[in-house]
Amino acid sequence: MAKVPPFHSSQPARPPKRDVYHDNNSCTEGNNIESQYRRNGTGGRPLCEHCAKLK
Ligand SMILES: [Zn+2]
Repeated sequence: MAKVPPFHSSQPARPPKRDVYHDNNSCTEGNNIESQYRRNGTGGRPLCEHCAKLK
């Protein structure tokens, strides 16, 4: 696993998922973001809880 620059999906998350950003390339949720919706930066969102555990 490795930390990567922050990225997020340009699409709103569907409840109960929250809008978050990711910073780890081992996060399955982050990896599920389709490339066309993947954006650089945090988007002003909180860090994904999976990524927080992967640190
Ligand atoms: Zn994540």
